[in-house]
Amino acid sequence: MSQTAQTEDDRATVATVCLGGCSGCHMEFLNIDHDLVDLLEDVKFEASHMIVDEKGVPEADIGIAEGVVTNEENVEVAEELRENCDTVVAWGDCAALRGIMSLRNDDDPDEMIDEVYLDKADEQSESPRDDVPVPALLEDARPLDEYIDVDVYIPGCPPDAEVMAHGIEALLEGEQPEIVDEKLQYD
Ligand code: SF4
Repeated sequence: MSQTAQTEDDRATVATVCLGGCSGCHMEFLNIDHDLVDLLEDVKFEASHMIVDEKGVPEADIGIAEGVVTNEENVEVAEELRENCDTVVAWGDCAALRGIMSLRNDDDPDEMIDEVYLDKADEQSESPRDDVPVPALLEDARPLDEYIDVDVYIPGCPPDAEVMAHGIEALLEGEQPEIVDEKLQYD
């Protein structure tokens, strides 16, 4: 673990980000319930949108990404995660394999934006192409390792909470997490 990322209390640091995901992986992680309290004895979450109010990608020992890379902002966040974190984890099928979020790959990105933000808009709606831009969609939604090097893959949709906690604990021990087939979860 990097010295720079260690906190004063010497816990390992973790940052999680949500790319093109549904937040289901993060939601499932919270299902470890009381074990989260035990985990916090060893881990400090520097960023994680359901746990910590931190919008950027701070330096951390372990960087975890949920979701596909589907727009230009996702590319920037993924690159920041790689730059700032010693170990990068692709969390869930979308990040690891591209998953259900890639169903949009057969459609034209511009037509999708128009359909969602213009065709279904009423007179009160603001157009994202004017004053409230949304990040430009990439041609395809792709898994994380097509943009940055990934060290660990934790599949599942979402991965089982225990599997995610086990993955973090194994990394803290300096081990590569082993995900056995019977622990793979697809809800
Ligand atoms: Fe959502 Fe499943 Fe993708 Fe996780 S892997 S972001 S739960 S669709």
